[in-house]
Amino acid sequence: MRDSELEQLLALSEPAAIAALYADAYRMKLEYVGKRVSIRGLIEISNICRKNCYYCGIRSGNGKVERFRISREEILDTVLWAYRHHFASLVLQSGEVASEAFTAFIEEIVREICARTDNGMGITLSLGEQTRETYRRWREAGAARYLLRIEASDPELYRKLHPADHSYEARTACLRMLRELDYQVGSGVMIGLPGQTIRHLVKDLRFFQEYDIDMIGMGPYIPHEDTPLGAGLRLTEDYRKHQLELGLKMIACARLLLRDVNIASTTALQALDPRGRELGLLAGANVIMPNLTDTAYRSGYRLYAGKPGLDESSESSLEALTKSVEAVGETILWDAPGDSLHYFRRH
Ligand code: SAH
Ligand code: SF4
Repeated sequence: MRDSELEQLLALSEPAAIAALYADAYRMKLEYVGKRVSIRGLIEISNICRKNCYYCGIRSGNGKVERFRISREEILDTVLWAYRHHFASLVLQSGEVASEAFTAFIEEIVREICARTDNGMGITLSLGEQTRETYRRWREAGAARYLLRIEASDPELYRKLHPADHSYEARTACLRMLRELDYQVGSGVMIGLPGQTIRHLVKDLRFFQEYDIDMIGMGPYIPHEDTPLGAGLRLTEDYRKHQLELGLKMIACARLLLRDVNIASTTALQALDPRGRELGLLAGANVIMPNLTDTAYRSGYRLYAGKPGLDESSESSLEALTKSVEAVGETILWDAPGDSLHYFRRH
């Protein structure tokens, strides 16, 4: 596909033309993955973060946030709950912490998860930028996947979204290290950022291609009131609709361009529309990551306004999710790690 073609698709405004784009992407998904949805249990293990990204609700500069870190026992309780409920894939996510204590804590938990589950549990880490040695230790402990969004692939836009000491080059270097350590590498961007154009979004798609990314986790940007970027923005109905639509178009274009990669239908879509995640599946996504974090901690991990499911128990949200996925004619792949096809093709 040419850049001009991608630009045209992302700029579509006619409802019928947009529906045709989603349908094309859905057909491509059927060809590569079928009507099947891979499922990963998301555990948000801590909101302590050393970074200060201008868009994020748990940035270090936000003094209103009460910080938490979930204990080893509580994390393992959730992991075993997920295991009993037929999850064979988990994501451990947190703010960015760089310390030997944290590295060792994660290393031990990953080993413990592998020892206590026997279904080939696919462990994804999403713990920000780390040293090669840290990534190596976590990989060796048993984490096979890592999710690190580039956030905005254009260096200039990246600089506008982050304080001066957050480096675009350091982040891309991390993505290369993860690849060298043979992780299944996930990346993504925020869609509909202030100052972002359609050209930027096409660049983002090309970035995924160039870095040969295995898993895409991207979602609409949603303003958070206590952040420099989100403070002046109001989440009106029109804004919501626009962000949702752009997010879905990006999923569709990513599927058409990248074909065999895993693409997540992210929580941010659901935050904009109760049916957001199902719409994501119909636009070409094939992964859903329900939040399994203990509800006691959920309100502390508010990256953006209106994050859904803050008080919903894992049990009831799982039931609702299963029903809504079935309602769009798809089936959840329980007991399956759901590795990226793209990763195995490369090998
Ligand atoms: N600290 C790690 C992982 C946790 S943040 C990291 O940054 O890599 C997870 C993701 O939340 C980020 O990659 C970012 O893309 C997303 N996020 C943060 N603030 C957001 C917002 N206001 N709207 C939408 N997504 C946001
Ligand atoms: Fe920290 Fe990640 Fe939020 Fe940036 S996006 S402030 S690194 S949690």
